[in-house]
Parts: sequence; C-alpha cells; structure tokens
Amino acid sequence: MTASAPITQDVHTIPRKLPEGGKINLVGLTRDRLREVLIENGTPQKQAKMRAGQVWQWIYQWGKRDFHEMTNLSKVYRAELDERFTIEIPEVVNKLVSTDGTRKYLVRIAGGHEVEVVYIPEDGRGTLCISSQVGCTLTCSFCHTGTQKLVRNLTAAEVVGQIMMARDDLDEWPVPGQPTDQNRLLSNIVLMGMGEPLYNFDNVRDAMKIAMDPEGIALSRRRITLSTSGVVPEIARTANEIGCLLAISFHATTDDVRDVLVPINKRWNIEELLQSLAAYPKVSNSERITFEYVMLDGVNDSDEDAHRLIDHIKRHNIPAKINLIPFNEWPGAPYKRSSNNRIRAFSNIVFDAGYASPIRKTRGDDIMAACGQLKSATERARKSRKQIESEAGL
Ligand code: SAH
Ligand code: SF4
Repeated sequence: MTASAPITQDVHTIPRKLPEGGKINLVGLTRDRLREVLIENGTPQKQAKMRAGQVWQWIYQWGKRDFHEMTNLSKVYRAELDERFTIEIPEVVNKLVSTDGTRKYLVRIAGGHEVEVVYIPEDGRGTLCISSQVGCTLTCSFCHTGTQKLVRNLTAAEVVGQIMMARDDLDEWPVPGQPTDQNRLLSNIVLMGMGEPLYNFDNVRDAMKIAMDPEGIALSRRRITLSTSGVVPEIARTANEIGCLLAISFHATTDDVRDVLVPINKRWNIEELLQSLAAYPKVSNSERITFEYVMLDGVNDSDEDAHRLIDHIKRHNIPAKINLIPFNEWPGAPYKRSSNNRIRAFSNIVFDAGYASPIRKTRGDDIMAACGQLKSATERARKSRKQIESEAGL
C-alpha cells in the first residue's frame, strides 16, 4: 500500500480458531458472552451468571489457566469445563531486558505471527505498551510499523492476553486470601505498540473493558491511554464505549505537512480532528488529551510550528498536554531527530503558553524498545529506502 492509496478499514479479525480439539478459548470474551458460552455448553441457565462470575474471577483476578485449580467449583464441573474450554494467552518467544529495566517481549499469536510488548518501570508505577494489530494499514512516513503491511487485527484475547502475559512475567497475580500490594508493578496501559487501535475497535474495546473490570485486572480507565493517528469517527465511540484517556498522534501543524507524516490526515484533516478532540473530554468525562508530537529535524520543529500548535489547541479550547517525542531513528528512516536544543526551545514555547510540554525520555534504547521501533520478526514486504523516501516527499 502506498501513501496515496485510499485508507480503508476493511480489515477483519480472522475468526478465532478453536484450539486443539475444538476447545473454545474463554479469554477475551465479555462477561455476557462468557455466560452465553457456558450455557451453550451445558451449564444450567439458572447457575450461569454465578458460574461465569466465578470463572471470570479465577481467570482475571487470580491469573489461573487451569480449570482444576478453580476450587470453588465442583470437581465434575471443573472436568466439564476442561473438556470444552481453554484459557489461552499469547506465548512469549523472546524477552529482552534493558539496562534501564525496560522489558521487551516478543509474543507469538495464532497463525505464527509475532508482536512486541514493552514494559517500562518508573518510580511508583509501571507502564505496559501493547499492540492492537500485526502491522498497520496506515503509512505514517516516520514510523517503522508503517513500513510493514497489515497482517491482521489482534483478537480481544490477544490484546488482553498481552497484559496477562506481563503479569505472569512480573509475578504480579494476587493470591486468594492474601492482601494485595497497592503499589502495582503494572499500573498503566498504553495502546502505543504496533497498529492503529481504532481500526480494530471492537476487539480493543472488549479487551479494555476486561482490563478495567473491578473483579479482575481492575485498572482504572484513567490508567489506560489509547493512542490514535486520528480516526475521527471512532474518537467519539472511544469516549462513549471505552472512556479511557486519549492520546493523539498530531505531529504537524499544517495539513500539507501532516498529509505526508500522518497520511490519514487526507481523510480527516486537522480541523476535523480538532473538532472531534474538543468533544472528547466532556463525553468521556476524562482529563486532558495528550498531543503526541514527534520531533523531526527541519520538518515540523520550528518556532512557528510551536506557535501554530498552541493556536490550534487554544482555538478549540482543548484541555491538553503536549508530549514531545524525540524521533527514534530506525535503519532507512527518511528523517533525523531534532537537536536537543531545538526540542527544548519548542518545549519552552509550548510551556510558556500554559501547557505541560514534557519531553519523552527514550527508554530501552539498547533493545530497540522505543515507539515506532516495534516490529514483528515475521516482518514481510519491507519497503525499500527509496520507496519510503519517495512517499515522504523527499
Ligand atoms: N497507531 C497509533 C498507536 C501506535 S504508534 C498512533 O499512531 O497513534 C504510538 C506512537 O508512537 C504514536 O504517537 C506514533 O506517532 C509514535 N511513533 C511512531 N514511530 C515513531 C518513531 N520512529 N519515533 C518516535 N515516535 C514514533
Ligand atoms: Fe500505524 Fe500509528 Fe505507525 Fe501511523 S504511527 S503507521 S498509525 S502504528
């Protein structure tokens, strides 16, 4: 797909393959759906709500993967569950730990595809960066993932499974009867890995609903941030149906430049995007929107850009914080990172106008764990440098 090709949404999740022997994976099912599949498989209707609640708790609160450990269910019922269902999450095939404690996992999902998940520990909190698609249909010219064709959407099980996998690795499942540690190692989720989450809306929504459920992983919606390149019609749905925090990959202050950097801008331009952002906080009852702004040397990093960015945000009265991201260069990338002085000058202009303007620390550099560097090892159809440069208008 080239940058000028129409941006389409006709990507489908491959129907969940029944695991060996036709067993149904319970991970990723909403509470209602879980109850339905239990009934469809023989659980009496009258008991189904309670049974679904029990199974749910074992899976998402205690992190169990084996029906035989679900000790508040009868032995016979446990055996029946085991015959028909599985509790499966993606398999970790590789793990790298950076000198700064950042962990990068390569996980394998059905069909042999691989996606990357990054855990970033900080003082008093820890953030997990998860993926929503294998590859991406969009072709942002500065993004490594954008050079990879979309292979498929992740299922809800694969999205929430990334969180469960990290809790396994951090050994952070509480033990029944023992007090839970309030200082969670995995306290925040960002949907900033591979893929455009709003082009896989239903699965991302279902997975986040599971992660937020108080009887389970129990992450507050204020600790989940969804980053989008600007799929305008889905932004209102995100407010209504997920209610998490929103980050927007803004990256440019004129349509001409944004058309090149974030080609979805040709479909929904800056003005349409800003209007949808202005409506977001009220509908989702959330706080500021994070404007992500990747600093590209000589492309979008001038003082005029900083002033234009503020004008846009002020004109629409959007409660905002501006996250400046030093460009993570990748082999063949057609851009250079802005100098530290330039990034600081840009940040100061934004800050003086009354907006928080943190400069994102680069973490896990030694293991290529930073934004835009996540890329599956099953990479296909890598574009040539020449092709990337011509699409970027260089
Ligand atoms: N598709 C979504 C989420 C994944 S990208 C989106 O575009 O928002 C997560 C963030 O990383 C986005 O802000 C994206 O613009 C940024 N990013 C991508 N490649 C990058 C790179 N090479 N250097 C710095 N940030 C990058
Ligand atoms: Fe896709 Fe986001 Fe990368 Fe753009 S920045 S190509 S939307 S993953």
